[in-house]
Amino acid sequence: MTKPIDTDLAEQLLQTAQQLQLAGLNKGTSGNVSVRNNAGFLITPSGMPVEALSTQAMVQMGLDGSAEADKKPSSEWRFHRDILQHRSEMNAVVHTHSMFATTLACLQREIPAFHYMIAVAGGNSIRCASYALFGSQALSDAALAALQGRKACLLANHGMIALGRDLTEALSIAVEVENLAEQYWRALQLGMPYILDDDEMQAVFRQFKGYGNWVQP
Ligand code: 13P
Ligand code: ZN
Repeated sequence: MTKPIDTDLAEQLLQTAQQLQLAGLNKGTSGNVSVRNNAGFLITPSGMPVEALSTQAMVQMGLDGSAEADKKPSSEWRFHRDILQHRSEMNAVVHTHSMFATTLACLQREIPAFHYMIAVAGGNSIRCASYALFGSQALSDAALAALQGRKACLLANHGMIALGRDLTEALSIAVEVENLAEQYWRALQLGMPYILDDDEMQAVFRQFKGYGNWVQP
């Protein structure tokens, strides 16, 4: 494959990776980001700290798993590819090892509807995908199952994934999921938080329709 054909998109990918670092959601070489384009998708390279990233370092991949010559795509390209392939309404994927989402993921706990903003992730919980080795097809399969009908999931003993119709939305959801994970973790220190029931969550989804111009669940 040839060089990234879409420098604008590569620039947006770079900015998203930088913002994840600035927001404290990723450190070192943890995490990765991808975005759909006409040739398949652009993805961050493997094992490269954000400070070393450039638009030219981004790797063009095809949905068949082929990668641009002489570049090493993120080791997690399988779940990026599979999500983009199976979730046609989504065009961007963000993966983080952010502190609170990862803390809950290490306990293999899902985040229930302890706060109405859970709706932003598309349902009444943020599921935790079962554990599988990083970079494996098994991890991709587990992530895809946990993401069914949702825009985010935790990855057991690993981190989280957030999806969006574009990079801005995927980043916003990742930030919100981390926020929710921290709030849930803090609430758990004092006791068992009240969990909103299905009726209460349905009312939240109705209320969100026409709310602001931010992420719609
Ligand atoms: P990459 O540097 O290969 O993207 O890996 C980081 C990571 O988070 C693996 O799960
Ligand atoms: Zn990871």
